[in-house]
Amino acid sequence: MLADRDRIFTNLYGYQSWQLDAARMRGDWDDTRALLARGPDAIIQDIKDSGLRGRGGAGFPTGMKWSFMPKESRDGRPSFLVINADESEPGSCKDREIIRHDPHKLIEGALVAGFAMRARAAYIYIRGEYIREAQVLAAAVAEAYAAGLLGKNACGSGYDYDVFVHRGAGAYICGEETAMLESLEGKKGQPRLKPPFPAGAGLYGCPTTVNNVESIAVAPTILRRGAAWFASFGRDNNKGTKLFQISGHVEKPCVVEEAMSIPFSELIEKHCGGIRGGRDNLLCVIPGGSSVPLVPAADIWDAPMDFDGLKAVGSGLGTAAVIVMDKSTDVVEAIARLSHFYMHESCGQCTPCREGTGWMYRVMERLRLGDAEVQEIDMLQQLTKQVEGHTICALGDAAAWPIQGLIRHFRPELERRIAQNVREAAE
Ligand code: SF4
Repeated sequence: MLADRDRIFTNLYGYQSWQLDAARMRGDWDDTRALLARGPDAIIQDIKDSGLRGRGGAGFPTGMKWSFMPKESRDGRPSFLVINADESEPGSCKDREIIRHDPHKLIEGALVAGFAMRARAAYIYIRGEYIREAQVLAAAVAEAYAAGLLGKNACGSGYDYDVFVHRGAGAYICGEETAMLESLEGKKGQPRLKPPFPAGAGLYGCPTTVNNVESIAVAPTILRRGAAWFASFGRDNNKGTKLFQISGHVEKPCVVEEAMSIPFSELIEKHCGGIRGGRDNLLCVIPGGSSVPLVPAADIWDAPMDFDGLKAVGSGLGTAAVIVMDKSTDVVEAIARLSHFYMHESCGQCTPCREGTGWMYRVMERLRLGDAEVQEIDMLQQLTKQVEGHTICALGDAAAWPIQGLIRHFRPELERRIAQNVREAAE
């Protein structure tokens, strides 16, 4: 279990104040000027050496992403950092805890990361439903300005840097990085075709990096405690500590910071009081937020909770939003509900997603009721394959994968429903 002294988020549960004085007592903003004095290249190298991979789901190496930004502007265009606080993935609730209880970790990270990328400013895009969180964040940013930590000559470093808080209006798709940029620009939040990638032409056509809240918030602590310290947790290629969000059928659902690669069983037994009704009552787990395939109980129990460990069992770490389902769950209904979510959140720009998500949902609904032919299970599988990988953004994949996981692991249950319906009809 991760020792308290190794936790980055020391006010995750809000036992102390979120305000600047208390944050400083916890070590935030401690000689940030000295961190900046190391220079952008040294900061990026430290983040690379730490092995930090993006915490928003895709897991791209953070230091490498920062290094894609131009070192100097040849045409006068400024660079920007955009922080993704849209957290709309069903099951995800970690960024919310950071923002409402430890916002200065994020704001200091925004300065350090933006400085490393030679950015002019950071925009924190927070989902519209996070009303209180947005209020806390805006107040914390104001505190940082008043203390001279942001703005002109931020922290006395000689570097001018602004942080803006921007509230979204409640669309899941605005969590996709290019849709977020469109939304920030005041347009309809629809993903852009790539290339160009944001590092070349992002916000207002300027070089931009989009990072998740957690990826940015951990950066100052990594720089203070050293890349080797952060890299001492987790397996190769899966380094560091991570916020896990466990919901569903456990005794005590929680958000907890743990070392990467902790086995699923340990995470559940040590932090959540175990599975409701005991281990034998576990049916399956969606380990990384609603867009990754479910994993049956037998496969997940000993799996290391990291990028590679969950890939090996046919799923993914995603945002580490662990949705636990015990045997009381109607798993077909659960996945049908997720299908409805993706149908509702599709932005409608590309045909396979616009048409496919609705089609998948309608078939899922009939399968839920058993009102289908057995061969429709294979047809649905083919349909998911025609959506997956054929769309502008990853929402198409996100809609396809949960259904693929269901068919892979619960096909007999789908067939049972169909047979039952046939029987009922005959009676
Ligand atoms: Fe929009 Fe779906 Fe296409 Fe993404 S995959 S751009 S959400 S229609």
